[in-house]
Amino acid sequence: MTVIRQQDFIDSVADALQFISYYHPQDFVQAMARAYETEQSPAAKDAIAQILTNSRLCAEGKRPICQDTGIVVAFVRVGMNVRWDDATMDIVEMVNAGVRKGYAHPDNVLRASVVSDPAGKRTNTKDNSPAVVHVELVQGDKVEVRIAAKGGGSENKSKFAMLNPGDDIVAWVLEQVPKMGAGWCPPGMLGIGIGGTAEKAVLLAKESLMEDIDMPELKARGAQNRLEELRIELFDKINALGIGAQGLGGLTTVMDVKILDYPTHAASKPVAIIPNCAATRHAHFELDGSGVATFTPPSPEDYPKVEWTASASARKVNLDQLTREEITTWQPGDTLLLSGKLLTGRDAAHKRIRDLLARGEKLPEGVDFNGRFIYYVGPVDPVRDEVVGPAGPTTATRMDGFTEMMLAEIGLMGMVGKAERGEVAIEAIKKHRSVYLMAVGGAAYLVAKAIRSARVVAFADLGMEAIYEFEVENMPVTVGVNAEGKSVHKLGPQEWRERIRIAAA
Ligand code: SF4
Repeated sequence: MTVIRQQDFIDSVADALQFISYYHPQDFVQAMARAYETEQSPAAKDAIAQILTNSRLCAEGKRPICQDTGIVVAFVRVGMNVRWDDATMDIVEMVNAGVRKGYAHPDNVLRASVVSDPAGKRTNTKDNSPAVVHVELVQGDKVEVRIAAKGGGSENKSKFAMLNPGDDIVAWVLEQVPKMGAGWCPPGMLGIGIGGTAEKAVLLAKESLMEDIDMPELKARGAQNRLEELRIELFDKINALGIGAQGLGGLTTVMDVKILDYPTHAASKPVAIIPNCAATRHAHFELDGSGVATFTPPSPEDYPKVEWTASASARKVNLDQLTREEITTWQPGDTLLLSGKLLTGRDAAHKRIRDLLARGEKLPEGVDFNGRFIYYVGPVDPVRDEVVGPAGPTTATRMDGFTEMMLAEIGLMGMVGKAERGEVAIEAIKKHRSVYLMAVGGAAYLVAKAIRSARVVAFADLGMEAIYEFEVENMPVTVGVNAEGKSVHKLGPQEWRERIRIAAA
């Protein structure tokens, strides 16, 4: 009988979470490097270069790949011949103790993103607990843990349907993927669960994302069963949609499609899709009673020699002297390097501004959005000599409902975020001759290097959702929606879908 110490389990979970916060899985880095080599869309190639450069910088600096350091999901398989030494906690409590320890590591404090009372006050739990834990009792004398830190942007794009037995799974998936937009920060992978019951299909989709990327190997050896055929068919057809990195249009939208299945009721065909983003983070370890799990760091040679630099055509923009006339000259897809002062704000700050305005009250002292740009971000706290931790963009569509208010009532000039905007925001942008700029999701540490100073100006109690003022220098962004309401997230995929179609004809 194997005897496992509670503290070894907790420390292993904490170490795994630190490890995956700054090291991408190597299969993911290699797949991203292949995507970089083959990409022909300049905008998508630039985004992939940012993601790869960010990945290497994070490994060197041991700082998070993304400002969203995720909600922890753990699959724990406990051997029936395992005995716990001095355990005072159950498995879920042990995972949560590991999460608290891992996220508070003083050299690399991770962002606490979990809120309790999700339908009510949505109060940040401050230590990123609790995790979502799935425990299985299995044969054997080991404890096996597969653990991930799942970003909200990609989790939010999950899809589920109860198809009829005769319905076509491929057709349903191809209908869903364009609707997922770019908020899941492609390129990444899709996990698909088929069968079982409703909750089983979703769980299978999540579990499938714990596997390594092996699509090139699968294609080389050929499919050997129905699920492998389905994986290849979906991989090719999804990439033919032309969505591309960050939804800018390009050749690689997914680097793999994983599928797990389970027998189901004769009347049912449940199918779930869960995407994994540019900040794919997962680790696997086993405890056999010999102590804490160890994790082998990648070596510098494991990263491709890709060094992102701003394109020669990028336009330098001084935010402190920018005029409303100048922003109307920008075209979708233009690349800009922003310097000057930016205010930040995301979901909670927008809601609070709306509540203040609804009560006829003023914004807090020192907050003036008139003629300014807002950056949708919730940064990681700084460590050592940093002015701010990783600070990449959050999904802009969540702020769509506030856009008219921000532009019409408090004089905002423009916005910076990630992914596409919805129709309501595009209409407001057009009406007010505003602009939406997008930064690359999953390149948060690289983006943070452009931030020269940061100070909280309002709503400090909101933590990472407070309003900050950033002083930035040459922060890379792309024009997402211009003053005429033209969106790069519509034009780019349209263009690349057509190019792929012609090339395949
Ligand atoms: S890469 Fe994108 S979806 Fe993933 S955690 Fe970061 S911001 Fe969220």
